[in-house]
Amino acid sequence: MAANTELTVEQKLQALYKLQVIDSKIDKLRSVRGELPMEVADLEDELAGLETRSENLEAEVKQMEASISANKTQIMDAKANIKKYEKQLENVKNNREFDALNKEIEIAGLEVQAAEKRIKNLQFDIEQKKVTKEALLAELDGRKVDLKNKKGELDTIVDETEKEEKGLIDMRDKAVKGIEERLLNGYNGIRANVKNGIGIAIIERNSCGGCFSKIPPQRQADIRQRKKILVCEHCGRVLVDPQLAEEITL
Ligand SMILES: [Zn+2]
Repeated sequence: MAANTELTVEQKLQALYKLQVIDSKIDKLRSVRGELPMEVADLEDELAGLETRSENLEAEVKQMEASISANKTQIMDAKANIKKYEKQLENVKNNREFDALNKEIEIAGLEVQAAEKRIKNLQFDIEQKKVTKEALLAELDGRKVDLKNKKGELDTIVDETEKEEKGLIDMRDKAVKGIEERLLNGYNGIRANVKNGIGIAIIERNSCGGCFSKIPPQRQADIRQRKKILVCEHCGRVLVDPQLAEEITL
């Protein structure tokens, strides 16, 4: 640390700000990588939803087909009854019996008609469901392709960002060496407690770039001088002028 005491305030600020640039890049890489698995998970959910819908449709069609069978049985039974009544008609003894049998035949005939109508409706519904299912299966195939591509993309990005991150971490290790412990601890402490990852802030529109509170003109002028390390009175972040930030390249 002895060598650091030879650094000017300006050099200290530059070193600290360089660290911020590196850390912001690392943060961004990690957040990009963090979002992709969620996109994959969303696609997987969507796929599962489509599969469930397709299975439900299949079950509904099966149920309707069973219903058609039941109606066909009803028709056969009703027709058998009609035949039976017609046979009985040949041996009727009186008008009352004749009327009663004819009534039964009429009722059975209506039952046949009703069952035939139900079968027709069910067949129509089954056709509709089949069309819906076809569309669903086509969508499912499309989503499967999407998922495969997304997973490939994820693998590639994970690979690339991990390499890039390693490079940045090496750079960070070097950058940290030039910064005195007190400043580094302050910087790390703030970063650990904020969501935006800003540990050292630039003056932006007369405000602290970390917490956005106004900075008095005189203090801004002092910061531009780069003769003293000055912090935001509101959030405690070390402040630098925008020109200094622009001078930093990795
Ligand atoms: Zn602030």
